[in-house]
Amino acid sequence: MTFRLFDAPLREPSQFVGFAGNRIDRQSEKRSDDSTEKALADPSARLILLKGGRIYLKDGANGLDPYYRPFGAASLGARMEHAILLGQSDQGPLLAAPAGLEPEELPDGVHAIDYRSVHTQGLLPVESLGEMAQAAALLAWHGTHRFCGRCGHATEMRSGGYKRVCTNCKAEHFPRTDPVAIMLAVTPERALMGRSPHFPPGMYSCLAGFIEPGETIEAAVRRETFEEAGIRLGRVAYHANQPWPFPYSLMIGCFGEALNEDITPDLAELEDVKWFTRDEVRDIIARRSTSGVTVPPESAIAHNLIKAWAESD
Ligand SMILES: [Zn+2]
Repeated sequence: MTFRLFDAPLREPSQFVGFAGNRIDRQSEKRSDDSTEKALADPSARLILLKGGRIYLKDGANGLDPYYRPFGAASLGARMEHAILLGQSDQGPLLAAPAGLEPEELPDGVHAIDYRSVHTQGLLPVESLGEMAQAAALLAWHGTHRFCGRCGHATEMRSGGYKRVCTNCKAEHFPRTDPVAIMLAVTPERALMGRSPHFPPGMYSCLAGFIEPGETIEAAVRRETFEEAGIRLGRVAYHANQPWPFPYSLMIGCFGEALNEDITPDLAELEDVKWFTRDEVRDIIARRSTSGVTVPPESAIAHNLIKAWAESD
């Protein structure tokens, strides 16, 4: 059977997902132990401030503004000793720091908004959303790696935040990115979507799961689909990926060719799994479905996978 979804050369679909618009020049080969201090001394330096899964946005002339000069950041209690250097923007160095003030302590005109709302409600331009994802993932990693995994002593930040070094055994620790496979199992006519108990009412999405050590992306896609739905997959085709700062994942989106259609759901993980026809999926995406079923927002990679299949022939 021909199945053009797996054969057609595609444009790079990752550019259409939220968190993927980061344009920062990371200059990773130029990072030194004092690169954060040097960047903060630059008169054009700007920071973004995060705390507890939220970004601190201030009212600006053109909507919500995520950028602060160092003195503005200090007035919100920014913890400059934990600042990290994201890289060079076209307006100078861009850094990120943990905010000090709690959300309820913020002055008028500054708002603490959780990452998910910023993402799903499109509260920031795509470039800023990508910078936020970079900062959120890095700051989350620093928050949980303050001690050496080898000897247990304290670690210290180096290289603008891209490394921690143990003060005792000198072991170097690097930021991690956890790969997650997210997949749409399909037949020529139907796509498989599931409902997690924590989804909003009516929402169905792709199945997903962490890629395990020693496992290929394709093997993880097949394993997760079989474990969660009892569906065996044949061919697996990569489609797109999305940085996912909850806390530091990379979602790797694939299509899988279903070899059977009788579902055996893993009810410990999912509330429901079912097949949807292409017409049903098109109606759901166009919000003209009367079934009450929805899919994740446009900025989510799941939406992009579902839409690409619905529009394929
Ligand atoms: Zn150590």
